Amino acid sequence: MKYPIPDPATLKLMAEKAMPLNRQLFKRWKKKPPRQLDEVVKEIHDEVFESLDCLACANCCKSISPALYYKDIERMAAALRMKPSDFMAKYTREDEEGDFVFRLTPCPFLMSDNYCQVYESRPKACREYPHTDRTRFYQILDLTLKNTTVCPAAYYVVEKLRGTNI
Ligand code: SF4
Ligand code: SF4
Repeated sequence: MKYPIPDPATLKLMAEKAMPLNRQLFKRWKKKPPRQLDEVVKEIHDEVFESLDCLACANCCKSISPALYYKDIERMAAALRMKPSDFMAKYTREDEEGDFVFRLTPCPFLMSDNYCQVYESRPKACREYPHTDRTRFYQILDLTLKNTTVCPAAYYVVEKLRGTNI
């Protein structure tokens, strides 16, 4: 099955409609995480990402910024042959939580064909988003709910999780 990429406004509506059921399920898992949760989420993650084209979406790069660690900044600055301090001054700001993020959204490195200009050197958080293949998934249930409103893949993963009996 090929997973369609809804436009951002439609995805938000779909995610908000599913939110009460998703919250109910995650509330249960927060109290008692199923033993096989990580295994099941990873299986669903792989299936969804095999059948979904991130290049037709790029909504994460268009609407939110990853948290940037100094190693990310050093790597991207090196790829662009810049000093990290110049990179920081040009592209980053500190957010309300004290994390460094990109100054602008869409991301300054998102190109018109949705490719990433610094793909090989992209931040760790970009590589890992939407985190649906990480271990101890029960620790990021609230974040995942938030991600369903932005990321079609996260939305489909949670839809499929609701269809399981774990
Ligand atoms: S990770 Fe999610 S939001 Fe980002 S491009 Fe892929 S489907 Fe879209
Ligand atoms: S660095 Fe690349 S992958 Fe990360 S938000 Fe920017 S365009 Fe997207």
